[in-house]
Amino acid sequence: MKSILPFFIVQYTLGGWVTFNFKEANDTITEHVGRIEAIIQCETQDGRLENTLKLSRLLFVNELGNFNSADRRSWANNKELWMVEEEPLYTVLPNVINTSVVVWLENQSQPNHFDYRVREILYQNFVTHQWRIRPIIQRHLHPSEFVPFPNSPPIQDMRQFKFMLDIYLDDFGTFRTVYHSLGGIYMQLGNMPFELRKRLKNHLIIGLVPFGGKFDDVMRPLLHELRDLEKGVVMTIGEENVWVVAGIGLVTADLPQGNSLADIKQQGASHGCRMCMAPRNQLTDNTYDTINNARFHHITEQLFEQLQTLINQNASQTIINTFQVEYGLCSKLGILSSLSCDRHLQTPQDAYYAFGDKVQKLIDSTLSLFNNSGKEIFLKYW
Ligand SMILES: [Zn+2]
Repeated sequence: MKSILPFFIVQYTLGGWVTFNFKEANDTITEHVGRIEAIIQCETQDGRLENTLKLSRLLFVNELGNFNSADRRSWANNKELWMVEEEPLYTVLPNVINTSVVVWLENQSQPNHFDYRVREILYQNFVTHQWRIRPIIQRHLHPSEFVPFPNSPPIQDMRQFKFMLDIYLDDFGTFRTVYHSLGGIYMQLGNMPFELRKRLKNHLIIGLVPFGGKFDDVMRPLLHELRDLEKGVVMTIGEENVWVVAGIGLVTADLPQGNSLADIKQQGASHGCRMCMAPRNQLTDNTYDTINNARFHHITEQLFEQLQTLINQNASQTIINTFQVEYGLCSKLGILSSLSCDRHLQTPQDAYYAFGDKVQKLIDSTLSLFNNSGKEIFLKYW
């Protein structure tokens, strides 16, 4: 995105740090430091499309409320900022931006020059609603930090199309109660509105996993195509060559399959949650801090590197197993790990699996209480 000032052009990028003006409720204008979390196009009242920014705001030490301690003030020096989570983003036009700044996130290598540093994140526990602080390393990276930028099209004014691919898989019985099941792997274009997505013809079958077969083996032939699509490929629509870039949006599966797609042990393991490190005996504990103890993609990557080092050093199987159990890791990385996606955020829990079965039981047992005329009345009002 470019902002044209009288004498020069400033280019802002997704994930970049900026200072911006914001009009507060009492009409005073204050300057904040923020990050460009997303660049979107919004429709104006007269039907034009307008570039709009979604900005997150960072706080100075004097804005930290209870956390504004003497100790923090002593090392903050006007240069330290705090990221805030669970706060709504500012949706603004690009003209509120003053300038771009360099922010050093202190768990990364230090740049030659920086305007501000960030060491901690302020976040709210969603059960107790208490504000807390956690170190900067415990953070889901912004996609601009780990998704490589796609190539430019070979011809400058070639039309560009960008797609989000949703992959999902599920087993189904092949014939009544016969145990042998087939796994179906399907894909949808996440860009489609819901009206189109729900149509059967828009569910594309990638392949079927035979009983005893593996997801990775069925996906392998498709993988190099997905990697090429992340960088961009030329496709021909009618007479026209267009530039197509696509990446994984979400991967949806039931609980055990979802865990193995996210390279995490199954749900019965000591740490069998693919979103957080909750030990088995605290899986239903509301007070467990699932935000501070979340699984973070870059940390899981480091753990797999450590696991690989143990294997390369011919460590005993007991040491390797203990390491895997301690962090709930699968024995090796799955095929999706070579794509640009965050295994913990982009393999969401499928809520339907958690309650679908129970709702069916509830309805069955409710209906069994009625006689025939009762059933008819119940269904009429249902
Ligand atoms: Zn969890």
